[in-house]
Amino acid sequence: MPVKIIDGKKIAKEIKVELRNEVLNLEKKGVIPGLAVILVGENPSSKIYVKNKEKACQETGIISKVYTFGRNVVQKDILSLIFRLNKDKKINGILVQLPLPKGFDTEKIISAIDPKKDVDCFHPENIGRLFLGFPRFFPCTPSGIVEILSKSNLKIAGKDMTIVGRSNIVGKPLSIMATNANATVTLVHSKTKKLKEKCLRADILVSATGKIGLIKANMVKLGAIVIDVGINYNKNGKLTGDVDFERVKRKAIAITPVPGGVGPMTIAMLLKNTIKAAKDNIQKK
Ligand code: NDP
Repeated sequence: MPVKIIDGKKIAKEIKVELRNEVLNLEKKGVIPGLAVILVGENPSSKIYVKNKEKACQETGIISKVYTFGRNVVQKDILSLIFRLNKDKKINGILVQLPLPKGFDTEKIISAIDPKKDVDCFHPENIGRLFLGFPRFFPCTPSGIVEILSKSNLKIAGKDMTIVGRSNIVGKPLSIMATNANATVTLVHSKTKKLKEKCLRADILVSATGKIGLIKANMVKLGAIVIDVGINYNKNGKLTGDVDFERVKRKAIAITPVPGGVGPMTIAMLLKNTIKAAKDNIQKK
């Protein structure tokens, strides 16, 4: 069977059309969802991500406000802005673009966001809720992965899933979401012994490490689904994932490319969370 190259860009576009309709319905009720994005420092990748988020908001009809600070800003000023945005009725979602430059207390800054506006789902309360099984939001990249599989008619339930990478924003929350969706999850990392063996047993192999070419064809079971979360630049400056795409695609039944796989889905899920926050806010009234 030929490999299916999963077109994340196309799926995200379809989701954005649905979300645009949801925004139009909210507008009829006098509500326009608003997202505030806080960018600190000069990280070029962060600047691109923020621009992409702004563009996606415009396409969907969400109002986006970007607050940009130089790296010399004091943490107190970022916290004051967050407290102000927490109270701002026009703002439903607040996100701080990570990573923050050195010297900032990321945990303290994220924890200052009102959990009801934490559309990245990084706040300890929202992670706790996810873990306990009564989520308010789903974190954007893991939910983008679950959604890309679902929209491609690739079932998670009953499958063996190996996730390479245990970060708080991708690997760990995905392991919870996939477990809740009835997958049997193996979560591996840089200290894992016999990594190849654990990857080879996967029906669904997800890599989120930031290591170019880590996932080689001899680590992939014939007929596996391979999801590449990595965003890396090779020595020629070309955007590439963690997976040796050309060789792995000969063994996989389905695979996400980089770019055009998980990345666009992450942004679509951020928009979805912002709209959910706006809807929850109406119900609260
Ligand atoms: P982190 O650096 O926080 O985590 C990387 C993880 O990979 C760690 O758990 C680390 O293990 C593990 N790892 C590193 N090297 C190896 C190895 N040789 N073998 C096994 N495991 C290894 O990264 P993030 O989770 O933030 O991001 C991962 C990648 O995904 C990056 O390329 C990032 O740019 C991309 N990304 C893409 C997104 C998208 O929308 N497509 C969104 C978010 C991230 P250990 O814990 O032991 O150190």
